[in-house]
Order: sequence, then structure tokens, then C-alpha cells
Amino acid sequence: MPLSEFGLIEHYFSRQSLERDDVVLGIGDDAALIAIPRDRELAVAIDTLVEGRHYPVGTEPDAVGYKALAVNLSDMAAMGAEPAWMTLSLALPEADPAYLESFAQGLFRIAEHYRVQLVGGDTVRGPACISVQLAGYVPHGRALRRAGAREGDAIYVTGTLGDAGAALAVMRGEFRADAAQSEYLRQRLDYPSPRVDVGLALREVASAAIDISDGLAADLGHILAASGVGATLESQRLPLSKALCDVVAGSTERERLALGAGDDYELCFTVPAEKVPLLERRCADIDCPVTRIGLIEAAGGLRVQYPDGRAETIQGTGFDHFAKGAP
Ligand code: ADP
Ligand code: MG
Repeated sequence: MPLSEFGLIEHYFSRQSLERDDVVLGIGDDAALIAIPRDRELAVAIDTLVEGRHYPVGTEPDAVGYKALAVNLSDMAAMGAEPAWMTLSLALPEADPAYLESFAQGLFRIAEHYRVQLVGGDTVRGPACISVQLAGYVPHGRALRRAGAREGDAIYVTGTLGDAGAALAVMRGEFRADAAQSEYLRQRLDYPSPRVDVGLALREVASAAIDISDGLAADLGHILAASGVGATLESQRLPLSKALCDVVAGSTERERLALGAGDDYELCFTVPAEKVPLLERRCADIDCPVTRIGLIEAAGGLRVQYPDGRAETIQGTGFDHFAKGAP
């Protein structure tokens, strides 16, 4: 028997075991009620995934559910906010039980991990499109912002860059990969690791932060524009996974992916020189590498320095060079 809209919500989305203290009223009324802690600001973000645009057609529904929250958790991480609760807007062409079961599993698995409670949403029939709105808490005045980078600050990124872009390039047949390499890169595309722990550790340490959804050059460009500064990156410092290096032979192609490909959901942040020791202490216990990749400078624009001493300027809007073939 086909599920009604209410049956569907009840069956798939009202079953989360997590009950947060700040959620006064969750799913089931006209609106959710939240008791926001007095000493906190609310950080709110929303991201929409459109099938065929933000994830390949045929992606496992488990991955779609996971990624719909993961990309929002990445925004919380970039603000230094502690994730708390979410709403879900779900448009699907049909109420396919197998799809919904798998989608809900992926969504709630990562939701439990980060203690995020689903408090409401909307369910409609239509072309597949999923929006998650996520809220988190940050102590007053402590959020990480894009503005705040200063000349002399070191530039860091978490994890490795370009893996999601490499996965798409492999799918398009641009590079050859064996089963293990394809699987690794595809996991990085489908199941990005939001760097929430690093984001929390960056409070009072980072002068600016952003998450890398559109590619390092574009997203670091937002920090530079908001802060009124420029930067030079060292190409050989860009952190690359073994899988990417094994699959992509040429250094130019590797750099193009690391600088220009999106969907990595790593963090890029800047740290004043005197706070670098504090950064290292705070990140020592976190299971995620952070790598210094360059320096903030007074002169505007983004430059990349190569090992042979050559430096290339990437124009403010001129990321097309890197965007070639990117998603
Ligand atoms: P309304 O008609 O007032 O908008 P709905 O019938 O759309 O309410 O939803 C009923 C309840 O179910 C609300 O509490 C709403 O937040 C919740 N809800 C609807 N769709 C979802 C969903 N996909 N996930 C979680 N909660 C949902
Ligand atoms: Mg209503």
C-alpha cells in the first residue's frame, strides 16, 4: 500500500532516537520550538542538493542523505559553531520505500554522530531536490568569519584537496583508476568528512575561515576579498591523497584539481604567526591533518609559487583556468 505524505514522515523521519535538551517540540506540529541557550548565538545555514547537479544520478540514496547534512555541517565547522538541529525539505518524484529507507539511514547516521536532531521539514512530490537547514551554537562574538585575515597570517587547509574532483574526472573517463583508487575517490565525493572538530578548535585561533565547496582558489578568494588582502600559495605544499597522486600523473593536472575542483568540504583558514603553537596544540588530538600552504600578504590577488621559482597570478574572477572540467 503506498504511503501517505503523513505516513511517510511518520515512518521514515520521526524515528530518530536522539532527543536534545534544547528541542522543546520537534516534528509533528506547525513549527518546532527551540530553547536557545542565553549565552550563545545561533549559526544558521542551508544547502540544497539537486540530482545530476550536486550529486551524480544513480548515487546511493544513503550517500545523498549523508551528504545533505554533511555539506551543512561543513558550513558550521567553517563558522566554529557546534551543530544542534536541522530541518529537511524533501522533493522526490515518488515515495519509493527502498530509496527512503536508505536515504534516512545515511542522514540519521551522520546526524547521530554529530548529535543533530531533525525537528521538522516539508515533503513534496517533484524532481529530486533535497535541502537541509542546519542550526548550531557559538559563544557570543566567537564565530569564525571570512573577514579577519591579516598580512603575515599563515594559510592552512585540512585533509587533502581535489579528491572529489578527481572522482568526477575518473567517472568522465579522463583518468584511469583501479577499483581501490576509484572507490577511495568516490567515497571522498559521496561521503565528505565535515571538519567540525577542527572548526571548534579554531575558535580564538583562526583569524578567518571558510569551507571549500567551490575549490580552494575560489573559496580562499572569498577570504581575501572579505579581508582586503592577498596571498601566495606554495604549489608543492598543497596536500594531495595517495590515490589522487597515483591516478593523476602530471603536476599541472594535480594542481588544477587541488586549486579548482569543488566538493572537497575541507576547511581553509588563516592563523596569525603568534597563534601557530596554539593551533598545533589544539589540533594534536584531532584525527585530521592540517597543512600550512601559504601566506597572507598586503598586495591583493592570489598567487601560486612553483618549485622552480615561477609565480602565477590567479585573477580575481579568473578561476576558469582551474575550473576547466571541474563540476
Ligand atoms: P504544514 O502543513 O503545517 O506545513 P506538514 O504537513 O508539511 O505541516 O508537516 C507536518 C509535520 O511534519 C511538521 O511538523 C513538519 O515539520 C514535519 N515534516 C514534514 N516533512 C518532513 C520531513 N521531510 N522531515 C522531517 N519533518 C517533516
Ligand atoms: Mg501548518
